[in-house]
Parts: sequence; C-alpha cells; structure tokens
Amino acid sequence: MPSSPEDANPLTIRCQCGYISFPTPTPRPITLYHCHCVSCQRQSGSAFGTSAIFPSAGLFPLSPHLASRLKVFRRPTNAGRSADCYFCPECGCRVMHRIVGADGTPRASVSVKGGCVVGGLEWAGAAHIFVREAVMKIPLEWEQYDGLPPWIKMD
Ligand SMILES: [Zn+2]
Ligand SMILES: [Zn+2]
Repeated sequence: MPSSPEDANPLTIRCQCGYISFPTPTPRPITLYHCHCVSCQRQSGSAFGTSAIFPSAGLFPLSPHLASRLKVFRRPTNAGRSADCYFCPECGCRVMHRIVGADGTPRASVSVKGGCVVGGLEWAGAAHIFVREAVMKIPLEWEQYDGLPPWIKMD
C-alpha cells in the first residue's frame, strides 16, 4: 500500500444525514471486500454490500456520545453467533456490524459499510465474495470467491 502523509489521518464514518459521524479506528482498513450474499442484498437494498474491516480497538467500547446516538439491531448468524448491526435512528443508514460470539465475546474487528467511509477510502482491488448468490455479472478477471475466501472468518 503506498504511503503518503494522509495515510496517517483517520477517515470518517458518516451516516447519510450526518447525525452519526466518527473517526475510523485506524487510518486504513485491514481489508475491503464486496459481499454478494442475499443478506447483504437485503440490508443494503442493492446488489451487494461493501465491508471495510477495521480493528475494533479504539472504537469499542463505544464512547457515551456515540452509544447514545447509534441504535442496534441484533440478528443471529449461521454459526450461532450474533451480529450487532449499528444504524442511525434519524436516517436509518446502517453504518457498521460487529460479530459477538455465543459466549458474549465480541470479535476484535468491526465491519464498516464502505459507502459510509468518507475521506479517501481506497476502493481498488477489493475482492468479491459469495458470488454464487450474485445478481449481477462479475468480470472473471476480478478477484472473486464462490463463498467465503479462506482469509475471512465471517461466522
Ligand atoms: Zn443519519
Ligand atoms: Zn454478505
């Protein structure tokens, strides 16, 4: 990844209306991918969802200010865990997801909705996953996986 002075500054995670706005935990995500699973289609109301994965340290536990603003929708995952889905109560925009284990232990990373990251997210090169559920054609030369790639533990 090329380094420049801007790489040291966090990006901003922002909902559609601006009621929710906070810095990313690190200046750049750990990874970025586009997920074509049906769940992401429903959530986004679109063909796929984009996940920018950041470490959760520095963001969780949420500041009192942020905790008072964000609403959470908790849904079960396939592997018996839960996904805490954070959204803006004013505009309904989903901003991030965090997986919590059956024993209540949260994952050390958080999945931020890519379109909510403001300030220079590097979109190039993101892999496409769960393409077996895709509703659009994905060029074969793009990095893609039928389901989960080996380097992602989604559940
Ligand atoms: Zn909002
Ligand atoms: Zn998905």
